[in-house]
Amino acid sequence: MSVTRASYAIALGSNRPLSARLTPQALVIAAMAALDQLPLKLCATSPVIGSAPLGPSLRRYANAAAIVETDLSPPALLLRLKTLERTFGRRSGQRWGARTLDLDIILWSGGRWDQRGLHVPHEAFRQRAFVLSPLASITPLWRDPVTGLRIRHLLARTRQSKPVDRIGKPL
Ligand code: ATP
Ligand code: CA
Ligand code: CA
Repeated sequence: MSVTRASYAIALGSNRPLSARLTPQALVIAAMAALDQLPLKLCATSPVIGSAPLGPSLRRYANAAAIVETDLSPPALLLRLKTLERTFGRRSGQRWGARTLDLDIILWSGGRWDQRGLHVPHEAFRQRAFVLSPLASITPLWRDPVTGLRIRHLLARTRQSKPVDRIGKPL
């Protein structure tokens, strides 16, 4: 199915280097440039936010967000994003595990999409400051169609509420 020109908010994340040079931060920056090669218009990219390793793990995280415009439908865009993940060395299908690149569709100008395992808005983004923070730097006023709240409001809520882990579960 093709959708007429739509905007999407995409979250980029990495927590595993591909090589000594391709650190999570470098991978996220390279992935933003690679997005520009897809059949879409790259309208905005956020700064990359990094987080220091926590606890015994030496894992660093890098996260960013991008706004794109395209005629691709949500599943067609997801297919392209998954191909890009593989191009950037993502091998493991393991959820929440270490991966060189994770690309999620967070919001879509068409509102909601819930078909064949694809959920837009992304089901966990409201609890994730590492998604909302870069997103708020490029599109603070975009409203979540489910709660009616703007990105900047959702981000402020994460600062007031009880701490959650990176997946969005209470600590
Ligand atoms: P999380 O979804 O909690 O961020 P994850 O990104 O690590 O976890 P993946 O292993 O990358 O999870 O993807 C799991 C499944 O989620 C994939 O099969 C994908 O098709 C599906 N999925 C559902 N909704 C979305 C979405 N909005 N964006 C990206 N993938 C999605
Ligand atoms: Ca994810
Ligand atoms: Ca994902």
